[in-house]
Amino acid sequence: MDWAERLDKQMRDYLSDVSVLKEEPMAKHTSFRVGGPAKRMAFPEKSEQLVLLLSMARECGARPLIIGNGTNLLAPDGGLDRLVIGTDRLCRLEMGEEPDSIVAGCGVPLARLADFACRQGLAGLEFAHGIPGTVGGGVCMNAGAYGGELKQVAAGVSALFPEEGVRFLSGEELAFGYRRSFLTEHPEAAALHAVFRLTPGDPEEIRETQRSLMARRKASQPLEWPSAGSTFKRPEGYFAGTLIDQCGLKGRTVGGAQVSEKHAGFIINRGGASCADIKELIRQVQAVVGEKTGVRLEPEVKFVE
Ligand SMILES: Cc1cc2nc3c(=O)[nH]c(=O)nc-3n(C[C@H](O)[C@H](O)[C@H](O)COP(=O)(O)OP(=O)(O)OC[C@H]3O[C@@H](n4cnc5c(N)ncnc54)[C@H](O)[C@@H]3O)c2cc1C
Repeated sequence: MDWAERLDKQMRDYLSDVSVLKEEPMAKHTSFRVGGPAKRMAFPEKSEQLVLLLSMARECGARPLIIGNGTNLLAPDGGLDRLVIGTDRLCRLEMGEEPDSIVAGCGVPLARLADFACRQGLAGLEFAHGIPGTVGGGVCMNAGAYGGELKQVAAGVSALFPEEGVRFLSGEELAFGYRRSFLTEHPEAAALHAVFRLTPGDPEEIRETQRSLMARRKASQPLEWPSAGSTFKRPEGYFAGTLIDQCGLKGRTVGGAQVSEKHAGFIINRGGASCADIKELIRQVQAVVGEKTGVRLEPEVKFVE
């Protein structure tokens, strides 16, 4: 029996209420719309199920991969010999015990979190409204835009560690940096839910800020095409998109992958792109920008294997 068959049996016996798919195309679960089949993909609906599932995965020798909305992921064409865990059903969302705080499950979309905060008259998450990820993926990546970062409002995360069990990590322990956190350095840990500490604000003003940031996004980003947002991290002292544009790479194409004409910082899937196309285009962009400007671009998109 391989790990997947052992896991199937354990899930039939102890987690029969968790839905699990076999050979599930990752293209259906990533915003790039690329990626071959994951051997198993499961969708827990409660934190307790996720905890049990991860312990079963360990016993069965599976290599789990927790994903949110897959908006920062590049999955291989040949698929993943892994247990992918989708968190979109882990969407508890309520006011926290501390004043002006919100508790959100890892699968809550950031847009929904920001809307909830707005309705409660709480400011601080306006920047996150247009980021298409979840709370889990967002905290892991310290998602940010227009001067805001989750680091500014995330008071802590309850996370499951394979050896230690569930532990609450404070904002400080999360050691946020630019598009990284303690969780990016510990991919074996699973964020279950996060606590956000906000400040009272006027719902109308909050809504207006959200609207104007979304309008800026729509005007500058190729949101009509599949992508994973900014392909590269912002290099110190530069903007990746400007460097790529200055190197004449707008519109550069490999197979179905293209450097967006609208925003050179985005690689888009113009239809039928493979992971190999996107990786090759990333390589070419890095090579040309490196050669012409001396700046090394580092991908922000995460390659999963
Ligand atoms: C059109 C577009 C615009 C974007 N704009 C922005 C932007 O303005 N700013 C920005 O920062 N990003 C942006 N992004 C990128 C992306 O939305 C963010 O990085 C987001 O935080 C990823 O969240 P996700 O839920 O999709 O995570 P995924 O892509 O699913 O996963 C990202 C990482 O987080 C890990 N992870 C996910 N959930 C958990 C969990 N529960 N526990 C532990 N680890 C977990 C995954 O294993 C993976 O390593 C954009 C993407 C797109 C497609």
